[in-house]
This record gives sequence, structure tokens and C-alpha cells, in this order.
Amino acid sequence: PSVGIVRETNDGERRVALVPKVVTTLIGKRLDVIVEPGAGQGALISDELYKEAGAAIGDAWSADVVLKVAAPSPEETARLRSGQKLIGFLAPRTNETGIAALAAAGVEAYAVEAIPRISRAQVMDALSSQANVAGYKAVIVAASESTRYFPMLTTAAGTVKPATVLVLGVGVAGLQALATAKRLGGRVTGYDVRPEVADQVRSVGAQWLDLGIDAAGEGGYARQLTEDERAQQQQALEDAIKGFDVVITTALVPGRPAPRLVTAAAVEGMKPGSVIVDLAGETGGNCELTEPGRTVVRHGVTICSPLNLPATMPEHASELYSKNVGALIELMFDENGVLAPDFDDEILSAACVTRQAVVV
Ligand code: NAD
Repeated sequence: PSVGIVRETNDGERRVALVPKVVTTLIGKRLDVIVEPGAGQGALISDELYKEAGAAIGDAWSADVVLKVAAPSPEETARLRSGQKLIGFLAPRTNETGIAALAAAGVEAYAVEAIPRISRAQVMDALSSQANVAGYKAVIVAASESTRYFPMLTTAAGTVKPATVLVLGVGVAGLQALATAKRLGGRVTGYDVRPEVADQVRSVGAQWLDLGIDAAGEGGYARQLTEDERAQQQQALEDAIKGFDVVITTALVPGRPAPRLVTAAAVEGMKPGSVIVDLAGETGGNCELTEPGRTVVRHGVTICSPLNLPATMPEHASELYSKNVGALIELMFDENGVLAPDFDDEILSAACVTRQAVVV
């Protein structure tokens, strides 16, 4: 059986689904790997490096299993054939037409977002590996946009106070943002609606902001807040946010528009020169004044809403994603090396979104 690595075509997407190291691993498991010419270019991986790892350069779309990062475009879906397997970030909750098209084409598609977050699947957890990159890079963006230092400095020319950094939404991205801001010397605080996160926040040396709202939902995710809770939260945050130089927001509720945490009034209350980095732009943003994909200045505050931050660090983002995808592929083969996904396996049954021409 063969695995194909195709070139990503989305604007700004520089990641590639498999790096040479994992190609070698799969070849060791008696799989053939076919790479579309230039597939690794964005991540600075030449065709030559793939060849050295044992891959063939050729028609990757003809492989038994096609690997992608982003969901395929309609043109790309048209290149897939019935029975072929596809793995990628297929956005099963929001990309209804794309998923329906994959089903209609008879493709057996696996969405990495749908992999259950159980310990056995941790190595395949692409949401986490990429959220980690985003959380780190969000802090770098904030530091770059800031008119102030992050660390405390005592110099002959005077003393600089450390930046105060607030992270709203402490999942995987938020926790990495806290840790990164801390390493840069900021004074960091974390906030979430899942009280269980408090200990994780403290474990990276951050303070926990308690607003008294518990909205822990299913499977470790947050539930949507009620109207009353939302108003209470916005008011409390409006008061809290005033004191921070940098606010990084990462709050998401699965399948819902991003919760509005930072109102226009809260932005107005911040000191000019402060920075907000909103990682929830793809689902509308956590800040009322966010313009997804753009950097704007409102009331003297710089509000950045970078989309797809993992694509801006293609080397490591690809390396980690590759590890996730490689582990998922291995799970799809039986002990004789036959490509035969076992749908009694909860990981495969959850990840598979189209099968035998239906959306499952
Ligand atoms: P996410 O991206 O869905 O959301 C980010 C954060 O936003 C979450 O912490 C959520 O609680 C928070 N949030 C939502 N609404 C909010 C609001 N109104 N105000 C403030 N915060 C709000 O989260 P994620 O990073 O995907 O992590 C979700 C959960 O999955 C976490 O519990 C995480 O520890 C868990 N997880 C488990 C595993 C595993 O066991 N394999 C792996 C990764 C993550």
C-alpha cells in the first residue's frame, strides 16, 4: 500500500503533512511513500530530502492514503477516487459542503480534529500539537507589536517594570502562551471557565484569575455560557483587563462562534500601546473589535488577529503534525501490513467522517 504527500494550496499554508523522518518510519513498515513535487517547499524540505528518505517523487494523489494538512479544495476533492483514504484537518463541524463532497466521491476521510482526546491517542493529537505552536507564536507576535519590554530590567538608564500579560482561555494554546510569556519575563495571569485549569495555570508560574463562573462541559471542553453568565463575565473582565499590557485570547467552544470576552469598552479601558492577540479570529474572535486576519489599532490598543499561526512556523509545525499523522496511519494497518482500518477501534471510528459514500 502507498501513502501520498500532496502539496498544500491554501493561501499562506506552508506546512506539509509528512516530513522525511516519518517517511523513513513508514517505509520501514513496508509502505510506499509518494511525494508530489514541491510538497515540502514551504517547510524548506526539498524533493531531494524526501528521495533520500526513500520516497518516490510522483503522483501522490494516486496513493491509497492521501495525506494533507488543510481540507481539500473542490478541485482537489475531484482528484480523489472512490475507496481512497484521506487524512487532514477536514473541519468536520464547519465544512459541511466539503465533507459532503468527499462522501459523494466515495472517499474514506479521517478528520484529525475528531480524534478523541484519550491518552492512547495523545501521540495523534494534531489539535494539541498545532495549538501549542499557535500559543507560543501568539506571544512572539504580542512582544513584537508591543511598545514595551516583557522582562523587568534594572539598568543604569533606569528600571523597567515587567509587562503584565493576561491569557483568556487556558486550553493547550493558552497554557503554552502563559509559559512562553513567563519565559520572556512577563508577569502572567490565566483565566478560564473550567476551574480545573487553575492548577495547570499555577504550575507554569502564572496567577489564576477567578471570576466565579464554572462552565466545564463535556469531554474536557467548555460549554457555552448563559446570557447572564456572559454579561457577568464581560463586566468582570472589563474591570480586570484595564491593568494588563498584553491580553492573549484563545477561548473556544466546540462547534460554536468564539465567545466574546473582551468588549469594546474593555479595549477602551486599556492603556494606549497595549496589545491584544486574538487567536479565535477563525470563529469570529474573542474581542468585539477584532477584524479576523488583520491588525488594527483601536483606542490606541493594537489588536492582532493572525489566522493559521502554525503555518508561520512550518518546520516544527510540520514535524509535529507528521508525528501525529504517522501514528494514525500505523493504526490503520493490521499486523500483516494490510490497510484495513478496524472500526471497532474508538480512535478510527471517531476520526472517520465519511465512509462508503456517507457522512458518518
Ligand atoms: P479549546 O481550544 O476548545 O478552547 C480553549 C479554551 O477556551 C478552553 O480551555 C476552554 O475552557 C476555554 N473557554 C471556552 N469558553 C470560554 C469562556 N467563555 N471564557 C473563558 N474561557 C473559555 O481547548 P483545547 O485546547 O482544545 O483543550 C480542551 C480540553 O482538552 C482541555 O481540557 C485539555 O486539557 C484537554 N486535552 C486533553 C488531551 C488528552 O487527554 N489527550 C489532549 C489535549 C487537550
